[in-house]
Amino acid sequence: MEKFVYSFNEGSKEMKNLLGGKGANLAEMTKIGLPVPFGFTITTEACNKYYVDGRKVSEGIESEIFEKLAELENVTGKQFGSVENPLLVSVRSGAVFSMPGMMDTILNLGLNDETVAGLALLTENERFAFDSYRRFIQMFGDVVLEISKSKFDAIFEAKKEEKGCKVDVDLSTEDLKAIIIDYKVLVKKEIGKEFPLDPKVQLMEAVKAVFRSWNNDRAILYRQLNSIPSNLGTAVNVQSMVFGNMGDTSGTGVAFTRSPVNGEAKIFGEFLVNAQGEDVVAGIRTPQPISEMAQAFPEVYKDFTRIAELLEKHYTDMQDMEFTVEKNKLYMLQTRNGKRTAAAAIKVAVDMEKEGLIDKKTAVTRLEPTQIDQLLHPMFDLTELKKAEKLAKGLPASPGAATGKVYFHAKDAVDAVAGGEKVILVRQETSPEDLAGMAIAEGILTARGGMTSHAAVVARGMGKCCVAGCSEIVVNEKAKMFEVAGEKFTEGDFVSLDGTTGIVYKGKIETVAPSLSGDFSTIMKWADEIRTLKIRTNADNPRDAHQAVEFGAEGIGLCRTEHMFFEEDRIPAVRRMILAESEEVRREALGFLLPFQKGDFKGIFEVMGDRPVTIRLLDPPLHEFLPHTEEEIRLLSAQINVPYEKLAKKVEELHEFNPMLGHRGCRLAVTYPEIAEMQAEAIIMAAIELKKEKGMEVIPEIMIPLVGLETELAFVKNTVATTINRCFKREGVQIEYMVGTMIEVPRAALTADEIAREAEFFSFGTNDLTQMTYGFSRDDAGNIIKDYRQKLIFEEDPFQTLDQVGVGKLVKMAVELGRATKPNIKLGICGEHGGDPKTVEFCHNIGLHYVSCSPFRVPVARLAAAQAVVKAQQAK
Ligand code: PEP
Ligand code: MG
Repeated sequence: MEKFVYSFNEGSKEMKNLLGGKGANLAEMTKIGLPVPFGFTITTEACNKYYVDGRKVSEGIESEIFEKLAELENVTGKQFGSVENPLLVSVRSGAVFSMPGMMDTILNLGLNDETVAGLALLTENERFAFDSYRRFIQMFGDVVLEISKSKFDAIFEAKKEEKGCKVDVDLSTEDLKAIIIDYKVLVKKEIGKEFPLDPKVQLMEAVKAVFRSWNNDRAILYRQLNSIPSNLGTAVNVQSMVFGNMGDTSGTGVAFTRSPVNGEAKIFGEFLVNAQGEDVVAGIRTPQPISEMAQAFPEVYKDFTRIAELLEKHYTDMQDMEFTVEKNKLYMLQTRNGKRTAAAAIKVAVDMEKEGLIDKKTAVTRLEPTQIDQLLHPMFDLTELKKAEKLAKGLPASPGAATGKVYFHAKDAVDAVAGGEKVILVRQETSPEDLAGMAIAEGILTARGGMTSHAAVVARGMGKCCVAGCSEIVVNEKAKMFEVAGEKFTEGDFVSLDGTTGIVYKGKIETVAPSLSGDFSTIMKWADEIRTLKIRTNADNPRDAHQAVEFGAEGIGLCRTEHMFFEEDRIPAVRRMILAESEEVRREALGFLLPFQKGDFKGIFEVMGDRPVTIRLLDPPLHEFLPHTEEEIRLLSAQINVPYEKLAKKVEELHEFNPMLGHRGCRLAVTYPEIAEMQAEAIIMAAIELKKEKGMEVIPEIMIPLVGLETELAFVKNTVATTINRCFKREGVQIEYMVGTMIEVPRAALTADEIAREAEFFSFGTNDLTQMTYGFSRDDAGNIIKDYRQKLIFEEDPFQTLDQVGVGKLVKMAVELGRATKPNIKLGICGEHGGDPKTVEFCHNIGLHYVSCSPFRVPVARLAAAQAVVKAQQAK
């Protein structure tokens, strides 16, 4: 019979898929003898079954839960519902991949009108017992019964006001009892039933609420942002409670074995005396640095550092731990591999390799390729920064620099970004509801909360600049403003954040590209040693090419030539060429363009040296080079001295209903071979001249776009070859060159065996191939894709991450067919997907020779290619 519930002493860290991350690690810590309050985990399979069964917990699972509950009672010597010695539990979600703040937690479950008295007796602290009870009703009411938290808050605040209490702790036990009565009245009014007092009913309702929360909006959004599959389900952890709020010998904290901000090998964290765990994570009170715990609890601190060290060695990775101290006794409540900034990830990986904890192959897997982005992101321009006015200083929660207009609500921020603004999201403190706003903001600023608050954790995960706990600013979310040192900032005012120092500046500050650390080069060097896939770049000017080489590009996989046609000094000739009524006039205009094109190519070849360069012949339809509105046409007609009617007629002639499926790519070269001739001559002459002038041996790769037929390719290739032979003859020199094609039309993939007869290389244009395979216009499908993602039809945007099942099948097929005809055919990809880590892995696995991506993604691709090797070896 399938087992759905596991006690903590039955599992291990290897059972993450079944027990979720939290459950598996609680089991592992129990296994290695650490002080973990006992409990059990209801599996992710149980969650999936709950949905399959129509949102019901089956009888079988329920009786398993109660069996484990009986065992928990035995182990702890406490009873659920007992007045003398009540068992209280926490109920927490725990998915396979950690989803911070996404799922709900319930503490102190098992409290009711009777057990509260037991708790008071046991702890000799009546106030504590009743405070726990009122917190429990509030949490249960909010999370399980779905009664708005603000309604509970209103009751609580009203009592405080009535009693003239400034802070919560000023409320007496009697006040708390009165609040509990009011809370229960509220529950009855809201749900039409009494608050459930039977602990078993409470438990089952809480379990169901955790299952439900797997599919709440925030969880769905988080999964979308992090590409986590939606069918994994969440586990539920039921654990006996320990109390960090039992006076000054108790406390609670969160700590990392190393700094998640910069990777420094020193315990990093925060703790609060006399507090419950949620106070730290939720950022309600600003905690103390962990080092101060050494003074408050010297013995416990020693014990804690020993355990932290042990856990890091055991998991061979930096750990993020939650713990509670109850009357001077330490309990571990959670451990997991800590989320960290890119800078920290690199330092930790390089340090751990040096310490002999991990090898180089493991080290390169310790950094998310997309995280590298953070390092390449701009920082403030130092001279600009000197002039800037400091407003306040908060905690440096997530590094980087950000500048933008302040917005105070996630929705307003989202709207502003849609309107083209750059935004800084300012909140008192963030909560999971703010996720959408955080995702699109340049940076995040909060007035409350520590380095492990929601804002800090989420921002670091996103690689987004964040200043948290900036208590000097007074935020008024309702009035959409904040105040600092008497100065007011309202929605739309500019501020700048430095997430590395925690400083908030007034106004806009220019940013510059960052410099990279020595550890970064070390890890990239290891990645280069491990990977087999070559990394090229998409670049069409010497500046981008140079930047890409700096980032480690080993060639150009796509040089789009159309951008060169738009340059100010060429566009008149391009237009003359398009408007020409005879081949002769067209050739004349092209003759004017030839030296410009040749100069472009020489510039790029020079930067690239002996690295390969693939140049693609003109791709877009010609109407893109002409104006479209009457006003624009009139203006141009005056500028180039061509009658308006003639110009307008040409524009109309060239108009296409579906330009993406129109007269573009090789189709242009079939109609106007002279364009391809000019480009072929420019490419070859650039190489010949560099050979003559500098002795360079450039081997140009000429790429013909949008091919769907062998005969089409043969036709254009013939034009190219004839032109090149003419150049060779004229110049009395021969150089090596290659002619290949893009595979971006489904028919090309389907007939790749035929196409390969004419092509020396294939480069997969997965932008067009995705467009044409799905029949989604790449220019217009944005909203459809957004809708599809929201409705979970798409897990990912197929224009960003290759659809391996469909489009990928065509790519794979073309690789096999191409190789069958020409075993040594050179294979690469140059669509946007070339810089996407998952796609890079796919390309490695199907045996492409290179991926080509934009310059800033070159390091991402280098690392992803190394990880692909490690993963493939692990899979064997
Ligand atoms: C492609 O289609 O994938 C490609 C690289 O070409 P472009 O984006 O220029 O159409
Ligand atoms: Mg294309």
